[in-house]
Amino acid sequence: MQEKSTRMCIAVVVGVVICTIGISAEDKPKPREKKVGSKYFVHDETEPKPEIIAAGKTDDQPPCDAVVLFDGTDVSAWCDGKRNATKWVIKDGAMECVKKAGSVRTKQEFGSCQLHIEWRTPKDVKGSGQSRGNSGVFLMNTYEVQVLDSYNNPTYADGQAASIYGQKKPLVNVSRGPDKWQSYDIVFHRPIFKGKTNEVVRPATITIFHNGVLVQDHWEIKGVTWHKKQSAYRYHADKMPIQLQDHGNPIRYRNIWVREIPEIITE
Ligand code: MG
Repeated sequence: MQEKSTRMCIAVVVGVVICTIGISAEDKPKPREKKVGSKYFVHDETEPKPEIIAAGKTDDQPPCDAVVLFDGTDVSAWCDGKRNATKWVIKDGAMECVKKAGSVRTKQEFGSCQLHIEWRTPKDVKGSGQSRGNSGVFLMNTYEVQVLDSYNNPTYADGQAASIYGQKKPLVNVSRGPDKWQSYDIVFHRPIFKGKTNEVVRPATITIFHNGVLVQDHWEIKGVTWHKKQSAYRYHADKMPIQLQDHGNPIRYRNIWVREIPEIITE
């Protein structure tokens, strides 16, 4: 009998000890862990909240912090290659390329950015390949995202719409065709050069949605987008104009806005 009660006592004591250990382990606050690559802890209430900005009425409209480059009313944000007033014209709320007027470029200069731009190739389908509805969006005046009527219009893959000209074909051809508005949403990170040399310590990268579809996925740009020539980097400033190409076709552009991406994101 005594032996039985002793066993019970031991069992109770062991149970209490186990419970105590369990409770204390639960009650003991866990050490806070820092987020990888951040000075803040996981779920840190002191981490500054993101800035609140007003979105556009629809996803294609500029949010309140965007720089509007063309809203359908005037081309004052643009000039020609010699910084003179552009001869491109406004038609039906769009700016239209005038043959031999030259390319247009923004007066303001940009580096890394988010760019929304809409374009339309002519209803009157003329020419073939690179001669049909050709223009281009040049980031930093240097890196061309091809604009082309690529609907039933075969050409070399690295020269069709949404290609990085001469470098990288788009993942898919999602062209709508002539006389239909199309859009590019571009995320571009500028290259960082080693000093003032042509060597890059960080190549430029680009992501493009064409008509809402991913066509370039954080792709590393190989340098200047030349014609019939292998690409290479050439040193340039940290900010340069955005350029729209005059390739002799009456391409129209509308609803153009850009948001600068902060160069260094500190946490
Ligand atoms: Mg072009």
